[in-house]
Amino acid sequence: MQHYQKDIIIIGAGLSGLLTAWRVLEENPDITLTLIEGSDKIGGDHTWSFNWSDLIPEVQSWAKEFVVYEWDKYDVKFPKRERQLDITYCTGNSDSLRACVQPLIDNGRLKLMLKTKVTQTSADSVTLASGKILKTGWVLDARGFEPKDTNYLGYQKFVGRTIKTKAPHGLKYPIIMDATVDQIGGYRFVYCLPFTEHEVLVEDTYYTDGPELSENEIHARLDSYISDKGWDDHEIIRQEKGVLPITLAIDSARFDELAHESGRATPIGIRGGYYHAVTGYSLPQAMKSAWLIADKIKEDGGRLGAAQAEMDQHEYDHYREEKFLRLLNRMLFRAAKPEKRYKVLQRFYGFQKDLIERFYAGQYSRKDQLRILIGRPPVPIHKALKNFKEADFIANEKAQ
Ligand SMILES: Cc1cc2nc3c(=O)[nH]c(=O)nc-3n(C[C@H](O)[C@H](O)[C@H](O)COP(=O)(O)OP(=O)(O)OC[C@H]3O[C@@H](n4cnc5c(N)ncnc54)[C@H](O)[C@@H]3O)c2cc1C
Repeated sequence: MQHYQKDIIIIGAGLSGLLTAWRVLEENPDITLTLIEGSDKIGGDHTWSFNWSDLIPEVQSWAKEFVVYEWDKYDVKFPKRERQLDITYCTGNSDSLRACVQPLIDNGRLKLMLKTKVTQTSADSVTLASGKILKTGWVLDARGFEPKDTNYLGYQKFVGRTIKTKAPHGLKYPIIMDATVDQIGGYRFVYCLPFTEHEVLVEDTYYTDGPELSENEIHARLDSYISDKGWDDHEIIRQEKGVLPITLAIDSARFDELAHESGRATPIGIRGGYYHAVTGYSLPQAMKSAWLIADKIKEDGGRLGAAQAEMDQHEYDHYREEKFLRLLNRMLFRAAKPEKRYKVLQRFYGFQKDLIERFYAGQYSRKDQLRILIGRPPVPIHKALKNFKEADFIANEKAQ
């Protein structure tokens, strides 16, 4: 047994692990922190994008250090709607994230254990694959996505390439959704992020029921989209792929049981369910959790107990706040026919810009919810009613 006094261990040096380490150490000079990472480097190889308005005000000035690209508008395209929205969109990446924490590594406050797999956790200890047990003040589990029997899921799946075109590609602003493409097997769109005049990330994305990713098929569709845009003359700089969970329902009784398991490590990031239920994106939530933890420790004079309690409450609040988003997902995945799912989004992007921003930021009011649901939702009413209540939906799923 090796004892770490008065400090924190975070397992997983991905997005949420690093953001939390960064914020906690910057705000709390007396805390030391160890990050345990299974791979040989921190931060992986990612780009992470978000609407600026998705961030809570408390983290906005802090987030600036992480952002590499920023656009003051973006476009969406559907068969019957094209629109440019004055919403600031930002992207950071693994390099910028590593740069944010590097000073803390250099001054010895952030200790790293790389190529170290964790096999078991509790609130104050971790067991490594080697069998060694480390004791600490508080364990935060940031190991990324893990399916749970509480959650009923659909998936957002994508394959993306950053290409460098020989001639300028001609895009000034991101296209967040180009859903004018063929709708195959579910809601499909292409996402384009123009990093420079010659560099653009092109990502083919699907909302489908299962998690399988047919990479070859998607690559072929990407080839065809890139060719249609006239970007044939290019080199590929980077590729990425992802299968993100989209939550349709959470079994409240099981959720309570798991949340009240005594002595468990505190989950953060995707592991803790902190992502936007409709988009699968987690950066704004990861920043919020990091701020909450750092702030509570500071407020409580460097003690960890209040922050632990705060995170238990935060997990529950997040679960409750996303109830409406889960309902929308059930409409998208279970009520709308796969080839018609795009109509749900086409209609959504007809709403006022402020409502769209509030929706992505999870700040929607009761009135916003009604505005989104009432009117002419492009889903059959009997299917909508069947999937309306979370508990009924779960009972139906279990019965099948
Ligand atoms: C390709 C891709 C693009 C995405 N783009 C966006 C985006 O633009 N915007 C957005 O908000 N979200 C995006 N997401 C979703 C989400 O933000 C990311 O998945 C994000 O990285 C999740 O952060 P996390 O810290 O929870 O997990 P991760 O960043 O996945 O970090 C988990 C870490 O834990 C380590 N680990 C796992 N198991 C162990 C173990 N047993 N022991 C030790 N270490 C372990 C892993 O090696 C990894 O480093 C994207 C996801 C993917 C896959």
